[in-house]
Amino acid sequence: MKENHYDTIIIGSGPAGYTAAIYTGRANLKTLVLEGIERGGQLMITSEVENYPGFPEGIQGPELMDNFRNQALRFGATLKSVLADKAELKGASPFKVTAEGTTYTADSVIIATGATARFLGIPSEATYKGKGVSACATCDGFFFRGKEVAVVGGGDSAFEEATFLTKFASKVTLLHRRDTFRASKIMVERAEKNPKIQIKPFVEVAEIYGEEKTGTVTGVKLKNTQTGAIEDFPIQGLFIAIGHEPNTKLFTGQLDLDKTGYIKTTPGRTATNIPGVFAAGDVQDATYRQAITAAGSGCQAAIEAERYLESKEH
Ligand code: NAP
Repeated sequence: MKENHYDTIIIGSGPAGYTAAIYTGRANLKTLVLEGIERGGQLMITSEVENYPGFPEGIQGPELMDNFRNQALRFGATLKSVLADKAELKGASPFKVTAEGTTYTADSVIIATGATARFLGIPSEATYKGKGVSACATCDGFFFRGKEVAVVGGGDSAFEEATFLTKFASKVTLLHRRDTFRASKIMVERAEKNPKIQIKPFVEVAEIYGEEKTGTVTGVKLKNTQTGAIEDFPIQGLFIAIGHEPNTKLFTGQLDLDKTGYIKTTPGRTATNIPGVFAAGDVQDATYRQAITAAGSGCQAAIEAERYLESKEH
């Protein structure tokens, strides 16, 4: 039992999780990171990351995450590529986290399970994901300089991404399945006034096509949601902005979540409603969702966990 007991268990292995591990490791806390099966988080499906400070020439997403991981290892964190499938946080002392049949215990827990971008789920999407198909305009918009792109969705994210993309793309078409929008009025009006943005209602993407060999998107087939008619729509990039799902299923009923499922933390901090349990990165941030902000909050969570453990000792 003692060998499976840690000062801190970190659940998740994106920028928030590994940064937390670097800090708890350096603070001499016995640290376990439950990395999940596909470690590294959302950056593993991104190609080049150009906006992570410290890499003026840019860096490939997977390489950046390997660097994070190696730095966490350097400071003594134990990393396990297993998926946490049960967490007992409420009323548990120590906290218990079970992964693939083994239960680990800890005096503090940092949750960094991230959020998953929703995708359309059509087969051709997988072929071009990370090439011409992206769920992050901030990450990939730059690669579409002078090109024609489209954004799918009718919420604030879709409008924000469409507006952002006009900095690079020559034309941005917002594709939405209805003609009313969840997005705030001001966002819609801003897009309507932008000469580079065209709004195309009553369509859904039925298929994405292009050159499979080079992974270049050349267009999409759009299905009219009222008539069922199919049309070809040439574009070079497709941005999916139909929402994110925070990965909080494990904590439902234990931690306070907001109405969209994100973990509630004390403003400006990473503390959850359970003392000793902290949340960092996209699992508690529906606003910024950047690797650098996730890493920053991972650092905060580690420092808060360290202080919590210190205060418990005294
Ligand atoms: P959202 O508000 O849930 O909107 C998702 C959009 O995607 C909806 O228009 C929805 O269409 C569409 N959609 C969902 N599934 C689809 C599918 N399978 N195929 C086609 N379209 C689909 O998500 P969000 O825009 O990511 O926003 C999430 C939260 O973050 C919101 O509370 C938002 O206000 C907030 N946010 C705020 C800002 C800001 O204030 N600057 C920026 C971004 C996000 P239907 O409408 O037809 O269901």
